[in-house]
Amino acid sequence: MIVHAYAAPSATEPLVPTTVERRPVGPADVLIAIRYAGICHSDIHTVRGEWGPITYPQVVGHEIVGEVVEVGAEVTKHAVGDRVGVGCMVNSCRECENCRAGMENYCLKGNTGTYASVDRDGTITQGGYATHVVVDQDFVLRVPEAIPYEAAAPLLCAGITTYSPLAHWQAGPGKKVAVVGMGGLGHMAVKIAAAMGADVTVLSQSLSKEADGRRFGAGAYYATSDPATFETLANSFDLIINTVSAPIDLRSYFGLLRLHGTFVSVGAPPEPLPVQVFSLFNNRRSFAGSSIGSIGETQEMLDFCAERGIAPEVEVIAASQINDAYERVLRSDVRYRFVIDTATLGA
Ligand SMILES: [Zn+2]
Ligand SMILES: [Zn+2]
Repeated sequence: MIVHAYAAPSATEPLVPTTVERRPVGPADVLIAIRYAGICHSDIHTVRGEWGPITYPQVVGHEIVGEVVEVGAEVTKHAVGDRVGVGCMVNSCRECENCRAGMENYCLKGNTGTYASVDRDGTITQGGYATHVVVDQDFVLRVPEAIPYEAAAPLLCAGITTYSPLAHWQAGPGKKVAVVGMGGLGHMAVKIAAAMGADVTVLSQSLSKEADGRRFGAGAYYATSDPATFETLANSFDLIINTVSAPIDLRSYFGLLRLHGTFVSVGAPPEPLPVQVFSLFNNRRSFAGSSIGSIGETQEMLDFCAERGIAPEVEVIAASQINDAYERVLRSDVRYRFVIDTATLGA
């Protein structure tokens, strides 16, 4: 099946309209007519070869929502007409210790990424900036009716990437949580942590998004450009979720953790960061990382967001605006996630 898409022809050229081939619908596959696809910063790193060389042309996009239009003979989890989503992975080995524990995102053989990954048939996976995609039923999520399609898209990466560590480290009533960065991931971390009942503080470079942060549920908002912030908030937080990919001074942030507090990075600079181990001794602090979430946890997150009435703030764009949107993402000029209306892809 040949479908309309937007692809990067090389690391240095803008994305262009094109077509991409989807595999025939296998017995366990679901064919999805994509309605919206979110733009994640990872898409930009990937197409520009900043996370290593890739094969071109490459279609990216791993925040995919749409409607099931065909199912394979053995599919039991989804039916034609269902509202569904696909996130950052489309398969895993299913045999390793982590897969058997239901943590496919930590597959020991590496999960199959939704794009720029080698699929089981040896082809390179092509992502969601397209009108259709074929995905194994086990990696397709149910999108509750309560969440509008366009708002659901960013939950599949930005939502689960922040929900997973918040749930794992038990953000909730009585817990003080800080969110570093108020971008696509950060704004979701604030909404989800607040919905979980935690006391949420935003640590952003400036106070320019303070009104938004408070509207999303933050009780306090501080500028990290002001050194006084790190003195005022010393020994304050049970959990810090760092969504920033730029290098930061870890020691300053570790100093903000109270007894048994944990600093979790979901954003990562490409270069290593020095860690002053002594700064972890005080308050028996932990430094951790977290990568997306399992399929089970992603479904739990979608259901949680539907129940609590929370969703990402999105700006819907046409396919022709993708390259401009990339530049705006790089300038942090987006509140808070671009979502491509795929109806504009093949027109
Ligand atoms: Zn992403
Ligand atoms: Zn595995």
